[in-house]
Order: sequence, then C-alpha cells, then structure tokens
Amino acid sequence: MKKIAFLLAALLLLTAGLAGCGGNDGGADAPQDPQADVQEPAGDAAADTGDAAPAADGTLVMGTEATFPPYEFTDADGSITGIDAEIAAAIAEKLGMDLEIKDMAFDSLIPAVQGGSIDFAMAGMTVEPERAESVDFSASYATGVQVVIVPEDSEIASIDDLAGKIIGVQSGTTGDIYCTGDYGQDSVRQYNNGALAVAALLNGQIDCVVIDNEPAKNFVSANTGLKILDTEYAVEDYAIAISKDNPELLDQVNAALEELKADGTLDEIISKYIPAE
Ligand code: GLN
Repeated sequence: MKKIAFLLAALLLLTAGLAGCGGNDGGADAPQDPQADVQEPAGDAAADTGDAAPAADGTLVMGTEATFPPYEFTDADGSITGIDAEIAAAIAEKLGMDLEIKDMAFDSLIPAVQGGSIDFAMAGMTVEPERAESVDFSASYATGVQVVIVPEDSEIASIDDLAGKIIGVQSGTTGDIYCTGDYGQDSVRQYNNGALAVAALLNGQIDCVVIDNEPAKNFVSANTGLKILDTEYAVEDYAIAISKDNPELLDQVNAALEELKADGTLDEIISKYIPAE
C-alpha cells in the first residue's frame, strides 16, 4: 500500500539524517501569526476525565493553523472554528477547563508543543514517525487522505505523472515530506499554507498541489477551474500532539476522546462539517 511506502520513505529520510526538511527543526521558526483567538469558556462542566490535576491555570491552549477547512478556519466573526476546534472544546469541557486557540504556521506547531507555549497541537495533524520522536500523539480521531489538485485541463492524470512537475505543498506537512522524498526538493514549492499553494496553482506558477482531501475539496469548490485527481496519494491518521513531558494531559485527552467517541459526539461534530456522501 501507498501508506506503507510513504511511511517507509519517511523513515528512510530520517535514517539518512535529512530530517531537517520535515519542519521539525527544534523551534527556529517564530509563529507566523501571533494573534490568539480565545474561544468561549467551557463553563462549569465537571472534570469527569481522569484523576490527574489539570494544567496550571484552568486554560488549555491549543495551537493550530487556521486555513485548513473544515478542520480549522476563521468564521465570519473572526473566531477559529471547525472540526478540530469543536473537538478541542468538547475535550476541554470534559476536563473542566477553558480553551484558548492560537493560530500559527503549521511547521511551528511541534516546536511550540515542545517549548510549552501551547498545551497541544490540533491541526489535521498526521501521526508520522519523525514527529512521534518529538511529541506524543493521542489516539486518532479522524482519517485523512493526501490528494492531488490540478487545473481542470491538466495533463497530469495520475500520481505517475507527477515526476518532472512542480508540486506545491504546505511547508512541513506530510504532503511536503512525501513529495520531497519521492520527487526531490527541486520539484517541490513550499507555501505557508494551503490557500497560498492553491493561489500559486491558479496563477500557473506550479503544476499541482498535494494536500489533505477535505481541505482540497474546500479549495476546489471555492475556486473555478480546479479538480482533484481520482487517485489517493496516502491514507493517514489525524491525532493531537502533546508534549512528551506531559503524560498526564495525554492520558486525560485520550480518556476524553474515548468518551466522545463512545457517546457519538465525535461523529456528530465530524458529520456536521463533512456530510456523508
Ligand atoms: N495532515 C497533514 C500533516 O499533518 C497536513 C496538516 C495541515 O496542513 N494542517 O502534515
């Protein structure tokens, strides 16, 4: 399966000591956008998940990159919303804590988790071996698929046609890691977010964009002249990244996720944003 091939490719990259391209370089990047979006407090919900003491001041700080609909995006009021924001709010409520969301570049998220400026990162983030060396991942709460966006009249008909093409990706994402591994750095253009990559595709600066399927659908329906190739590049699990120094929070988040799965809240949130086809 493709997935295994790409995980292997990622592992090989690691072994070869080329890990630096993966956006996991220990915190050199300052957050792109320091503005934080404070969600409504979770109210006085009882902390019914786990016995460990909740993080310091009763506020859970989530980091995300908020141009990744339907997982995270900014609504008309300027608040960050979407699947991840709602699941995070439900987790915070279970923990009896308030939720604050900070928006930053995707490749700043893992360094921010490691540095402690956020409690966790939730950003449609794929469980990936190189990342798992830097942070712990919760249980998975969703599946993602890497797909290829091309102009409607593109000569690219399948993954096999990507060789020799210029591929746009969001910097530090698995799309970036896989494409750089498969086609080489010279074939890949890295953008700060998916929207910028899609804008470059519309301008004819690149031949395609490799990105997760649900944001891809959003970008394609918001713009004319684009389509998604039928073939899947890789199938992935999304999870929440938490500091290796905070196993209590990892346990609490996993316990909360389990409850939210069992009582149907997780499915409810996901199907609100991704209606069944
Ligand atoms: N799922 C991809 C990754 O984890 C992309 C996530 C994103 O761009 N927010 O790398």
